Amino acid sequence: MRRMKTEIKKGKVWLVGAGPGDAGLLTLRGREVLEAAQSVVYDALVGDGILGWIPEGASQIYVGKRGGSHTKSQSEINQILVEEASKGRRVVRLKGGDPFVFGRGSEEAQVLSEHKIPFEVVPGVTSAVAVPAYCGIPVTHRGIAPSFHVITGHRKNGEPAEMDYAAMVREGGTLIFLMGVTSAEHICQELIRSGMDKDTPAALLERGTTAGQRKVISTVERLWEDGKKAGIKPPAIIAVGEVCSLSDTCGWLEEKPLFGQKVLVTRPRRRSSGMAGRLREAGAEVVELPSAEPKLVQDKEEVQDLRETVSQIGRFQWAVFTSPSGVELFFEFMKQEKLDLRLLMGLRFAVIGEGTRRALQSYGLFADYMPERYYARDLGKGLAETLLEEAQGKRPETALLLRARKASDALTEELLKAGISFEEKTLYDTVLPDASLQAERVKELLKKQDFSFVTFTSASTVEGFLNLLNPDAEELSGFTAVCIGEETRRAASAAGMKTIVSDKPSMDSMAECMERFAAR
Ligand code: SAH
Repeated sequence: MRRMKTEIKKGKVWLVGAGPGDAGLLTLRGREVLEAAQSVVYDALVGDGILGWIPEGASQIYVGKRGGSHTKSQSEINQILVEEASKGRRVVRLKGGDPFVFGRGSEEAQVLSEHKIPFEVVPGVTSAVAVPAYCGIPVTHRGIAPSFHVITGHRKNGEPAEMDYAAMVREGGTLIFLMGVTSAEHICQELIRSGMDKDTPAALLERGTTAGQRKVISTVERLWEDGKKAGIKPPAIIAVGEVCSLSDTCGWLEEKPLFGQKVLVTRPRRRSSGMAGRLREAGAEVVELPSAEPKLVQDKEEVQDLRETVSQIGRFQWAVFTSPSGVELFFEFMKQEKLDLRLLMGLRFAVIGEGTRRALQSYGLFADYMPERYYARDLGKGLAETLLEEAQGKRPETALLLRARKASDALTEELLKAGISFEEKTLYDTVLPDASLQAERVKELLKKQDFSFVTFTSASTVEGFLNLLNPDAEELSGFTAVCIGEETRRAASAAGMKTIVSDKPSMDSMAECMERFAAR
């Protein structure tokens, strides 16, 4: 990325295909240029999960139709691209599917070329192939479909486009119509009139690769009726051909436990969340929202005090961490204060759970104690037991707790109860991230009641979510909050959310909890 950042002085545009909706279908190259963008111009078909990857500070310009707002005309879009690039920016023009498949990407390329603005094209996974694939329909199949044809069903001034349907029928390949929902009746009639067997399998595939994916498998004769009954709406694809009958055996997405569920994952800023990956694996559509930002203590006295404690950390035998952010910020602090890592020699480490253990391990340090259940109380109890056992009646070792300001009392209560001596230091505060454009987007999705679940891993992420989005009762009623721990649940519940608590405080357990809930 460094190379990309220095290369551009004049401004440049990348015409990037975002794929059909599933964030996982953005290409590696697409994500690379997106993460280096200074200005992102996107439209309605770009997956919600992808917008979370737009870097902080980049301006976002929405040019598609959504809600009541109006679509920008193509010439307005062209002008925006030219203007943004002329400011010397790296501009990413994000489009659904592939930019050159009915995406008017080539018109934009021509305009850029006229203005001598450098550009690149990053092809995308087109919905014409991917949406059928996610619905179990292969666009070609040996012996059944020797070719496939991608055709526009778009109407011009309300009239269906004139096309050589007889040629399509003669060809015998799979026919894929984009933008064709409103012309479905006309298309099917024309195909039959041009000699296609009226029992030829056909399908309507709505919002493929997203949580809203629906399919209607029928015949050319009945497709329009069946689609109307099912209430199929754009964006949808019409597929016509024998391959549509394979969708039972070649279907796979619908089998996944979280298929059809859209999940909002709240997480601390800066930490990429393993949760999103775990949920996508289970078939969910995931949108991430950074809703709490861990920040090292700033107050001069506090910094000085912490510095002194850490520089004499040899007074303690144990250091205790209760979050991955804590681990990361601790090492950041040592670096900031020029405290040498060798100070930690001989120190033992206790961690609250798997994530914290992994964070520590990334610094080459292996945790000496982790409780079976990842709760503050279990950590306190277990650590106290370990220390008492090791002391064999002598004075137990001393621990330093390095935590967030408003950390849970359960840990210290247990240590006090067991008579363990410890010191507690505030390492960081959890502050609210600045209102972001991503938050605006998420707010719109909440309004549409798009999410089935929202995940919260701490009371501070609940607080962050509420402050950031300021949701009303109706917006809060659209989803179920999936929480780690009682404290988190209480915070969510107090705000008026429906809640469920995972059995264990782990990502896997949260995902399983959603799977069970969704199966009901
Ligand atoms: N460039 C895009 C197509 C743009 S035209 C591509 O390569 O996919 C817009 C049409 O694409 C829609 O009307 C619809 O027919 C189709 N489409 C795009 N995304 C879709 C999706 N997720 N599910 C169903 N159809 C989709």
